[in-house]
Amino acid sequence: MNRHESCLVLNAGSSSLKFSVLRRVEAHDDLQQVLSGQIAGIGTEAVFEARDANRRVIARQRWNAEDSQRREALLAFLLDWLPQALPEDRIVAAGHRVVHGGRTFSRPVRVTPEVLAELEALVPLAPLHQPHNLAPMRALAASHPELPQVACFDTAFHAELPWVASTYALPREPAYEGVQRYGFHGLSYEYVSQRLAALRPELANQRIVICHLGNGSSLAAVHAGRGVDTTMGFTALDGLPMGTRCGSLDPGVLLYLMREKGMGADSLEDLLYRRSGLLGVSGLSSDMRVLQESAEPAARRAVELFCFRVAKEVAAMAGSMGGIDALVFTAGIGENSPAVRADVCSRLGWLGLAIDDDANGRRALEISADESVLPVFVLPTNEETMIAMHTLSRLAGDGRGAALATRQEAGSCSTAPTPAIC
Ligand code: AMP
Repeated sequence: MNRHESCLVLNAGSSSLKFSVLRRVEAHDDLQQVLSGQIAGIGTEAVFEARDANRRVIARQRWNAEDSQRREALLAFLLDWLPQALPEDRIVAAGHRVVHGGRTFSRPVRVTPEVLAELEALVPLAPLHQPHNLAPMRALAASHPELPQVACFDTAFHAELPWVASTYALPREPAYEGVQRYGFHGLSYEYVSQRLAALRPELANQRIVICHLGNGSSLAAVHAGRGVDTTMGFTALDGLPMGTRCGSLDPGVLLYLMREKGMGADSLEDLLYRRSGLLGVSGLSSDMRVLQESAEPAARRAVELFCFRVAKEVAAMAGSMGGIDALVFTAGIGENSPAVRADVCSRLGWLGLAIDDDANGRRALEISADESVLPVFVLPTNEETMIAMHTLSRLAGDGRGAALATRQEAGSCSTAPTPAIC
């Protein structure tokens, strides 16, 4: 018997499909992640792995090279497997992470053929992510047309950036319409800023700089829970150097490479998105762990450049808000690398910022030293929870976006025509 209403969250990339199932816990008006995992190596050697709520591996499966290419079949495998793994759950909706909502989508939206067509038009703005985000929506719409789907956008959190933060100094001509700074990692910023406000209510209306440092990295200036500046711009290429992306670059470099080196759009895209950043500078790896374990001078330089740029951009974000009341680290590097946090914070010592080495080493929630003029936090991000919250909220039709679905909404959801996939 299906007893729990649950939300399937999908985060599809070029070679992976990450999934989570979050169950509505009505007694606490809360969501509980009951299962998570991914299909990695899509296109080459696909491997499925799922973990339970305690992070124990509960299933593994591999495919041969030919079957690894069949994306829709891999998704179908997941959808067939879920009801067996969660016999007590009834999946009432699927929420998708979508990197770009453009100017049209500033909040989560129900997926319809019209919405899909509009999102398709945004592919040139996020060529590495958007096509993969959309593929499972189309597949699910075809295989489970009754299952409601909701698209949640990484750009939405930044939709109300002040014009000075969203505008490029280009001519105000129709040809450049839509060429503006959008910002990304918004689901992470939304989750982290809400979490910080819950843990430290006195900071809810203050000026926070959040450092989302992972394979993709960016910073956001958040004042009273709203995004007021961020380091990524028109695409997810701008700002900090990342695993394989270059971050901010003088646009004159592109002109030079095109004119003097004969590079075209495709080779530039490959250079800027896939061969630069930590990988490009180190010549070794895009993975921060590998670089920190390496004795190679080039690996050290890559880490040093990364920390230098993070510290510089923290100062810029603080400048955008006229000050800073707290600093937060999150995502793979931000949550797991005490050395990066220590390096960034020591570069910000002039701000009066100091960390406690012991607290930093054991990844305490608050890692600042007593004498620090502002608190520094490490807060694990959880974009999946944010997507599930938005999805259930959207289905309940309250349009409040980030609000966690309430018991009353749960009631309306259960009476809505939302057939389960299991
Ligand atoms: P994400 O994209 O958020 O999954 O973050 C991936 C990045 O986090 C990679 O560069 C990893 O090397 C890095 N990372 C994960 N764990 C650690 C760790 N213990 N120390 C340093 N970097 C880490």
